[in-house]
Amino acid sequence: MKDLKLASIDAKKERTTIKIGNVTVGRDFVVIAGPCSVETEEQTIKTAIAVKEAGGDMLRGGAFKPRTSPYAFQGLGMKGLKILDKAKRETGLPIVTEVVDARDVSWVCEYADIIQIGARNMQNFSLLKEAGRVKKPVLLKRGMYSTLSEWLNCAEYILAEGNPDVILCERGIRTFETYTRNTLDLSIIPSSKEVTHLPIMADPSHGTGKLSLIGPMSLASVASGADGILLEVHIDPSKALSDASQQLTPAAFKTLIRKIRQLKESYDSIVNS
Ligand code: PEP
Ligand code: MN
Repeated sequence: MKDLKLASIDAKKERTTIKIGNVTVGRDFVVIAGPCSVETEEQTIKTAIAVKEAGGDMLRGGAFKPRTSPYAFQGLGMKGLKILDKAKRETGLPIVTEVVDARDVSWVCEYADIIQIGARNMQNFSLLKEAGRVKKPVLLKRGMYSTLSEWLNCAEYILAEGNPDVILCERGIRTFETYTRNTLDLSIIPSSKEVTHLPIMADPSHGTGKLSLIGPMSLASVASGADGILLEVHIDPSKALSDASQQLTPAAFKTLIRKIRQLKESYDSIVNS
């Protein structure tokens, strides 16, 4: 990957760490959780409180939703961001939210602690450049048909504009397998660490699309060396307006995060022994 002037491990020996609120991405194991979409104030705030009480580090929630169908729920937009802001004030959790349009990047940054660029927009170069011009960390999801090299070149677009704070997120790729929604490619986690200094997280919710698989693949993500996990949590998953089949209840999240933290401790002692 000779074309990577900034994202390459040869360009910067020490690994990138990004301090956000009380946690440092790239050093602490970070759990980002929350609903796929911000739907109502009650749904978001109740979920945020549950995420906080269970020990989550940040709240995620989409106010702008990139949907396959133009007729599907597209998100609450500005109203959704105001709800996220309220959830942040109530819980203290930093906010992770997606931007889908380059024109929205700077003002969404007034509400977001991390801006997310989704899988469908990984190669939206004008969006990447705009994200490179702001002073907020960017969570860059892997495109569903993208190689590691293509993905890192997209991170390079952001870095090249002056924003050094990029977090990669593996969210599953399209393969011939249809049993799962996507194939969570966990080999990309240690692979990325061989070539880039950027932190990398795993998203077992989109990576599997199946409730029963989120637990095992979250634990597998820890064991792959991921720097954190992103999980979808909803107070009433069956009523969710997007991704209803993959959102954990607060109770399931609480059980899972306990196992994740426990495994992470054992993992560290094994790897460092
Ligand atoms: C999401 O995080 O809700 C989302 C739309 O993710 P992805 O871009 O990975 O599909
Ligand atoms: Mn989703």
